[in-house]
Amino acid sequence: MKLALPGIPFLAFLRARRSAIVAGSLALVLLATLHVVVPRRGGGEDIARVSLPEEEIEDALDQANAAEEARLAAARGGGQGVVQGAGQGGGGEAGAVAGPAIRAIDAEWEKRSVPVSLQPGRGYVAIVIDDMGLDRPRAMRAIGLPAPLTLSFLPYGRDAPALAVLARQRGHEILLHMPMQPTGGESPGPHALTVDLAAVEIRGRVGAALDRFGDAVGLNNHMGSRFTVDRRLMGPLMDELRGRGLVFVDSRTAAESQGSEAAGHAGVPMAMRDVFLDNEATADAINRQLREVERIARRRGHAVAIGHPHDATFAALAAWLPGLQEKGLQAVPVTTIIRRNLERGRTAQ
Ligand SMILES: [Zn+2]
Repeated sequence: MKLALPGIPFLAFLRARRSAIVAGSLALVLLATLHVVVPRRGGGEDIARVSLPEEEIEDALDQANAAEEARLAAARGGGQGVVQGAGQGGGGEAGAVAGPAIRAIDAEWEKRSVPVSLQPGRGYVAIVIDDMGLDRPRAMRAIGLPAPLTLSFLPYGRDAPALAVLARQRGHEILLHMPMQPTGGESPGPHALTVDLAAVEIRGRVGAALDRFGDAVGLNNHMGSRFTVDRRLMGPLMDELRGRGLVFVDSRTAAESQGSEAAGHAGVPMAMRDVFLDNEATADAINRQLREVERIARRRGHAVAIGHPHDATFAALAAWLPGLQEKGLQAVPVTTIIRRNLERGRTAQ
């Protein structure tokens, strides 16, 4: 828990963090209030099928709240221990960042990853569910699917931090789903990474968002077809991840994404999305994509798929996940794929 963070004026960073903490705490208080007033937001059959007990959700809310308060107290006490995992990048020595010297053993992402017992000779499949945290009933349905999945939370979701705590307790791995500017006019949401931002602001936004999710092993991009193709902008993003010992998962919303090159240069472990499950959110289309996932996992030994909190996606995954074993496949958290990528990189050298 060191404070040094390469390349960031600390006060500016702390200011950004403080406002994030205050906003996060207010959001949690608001959530607790709304939860009492509107206990059955959205009602209907989908929610009726959710089996997670309310006490468990309340426990998760309490934990997330306590964590936010602890961070706030730490910030008041002069900032000691505020910057989680910031010591991983070599304490601010710029020379330690460049090059392929990735230490998997002592990285923060390893500590946060979901432990997995790998069955040898199987095809390993990581299923990532994006856009988590905005819709509580849908988040609970994702959390209720057989673990381990990797659930990626948008930073501005009101109750996203608490849902992430609950998801991790249920054996799912956690990513931050960082909004980034797409081509075209669609809005990526508040606090997004846009191409007009200075490097220090990019790092500040990434850091503030990551601070909301103490279990996040790293981040993947929400949208970002414009932002991720700019190598100059991906540098500060990777520096922040490297400084915190976290990973990058490239959603590859643009074929020319610079994610792989920028991560490699900064020494950030990474994985890339192979298949989008539900660009067409129908049962037939999703099942077709799942067969493609199986094909890639058998051929290459692993595959990364990204889906979204759609009804059709939940239904397809609920039917598909229990059958993996007899197909010679195994569901793994995304960090398993990242470890494999690191091992392959080493043997290739
Ligand atoms: Zn997204």
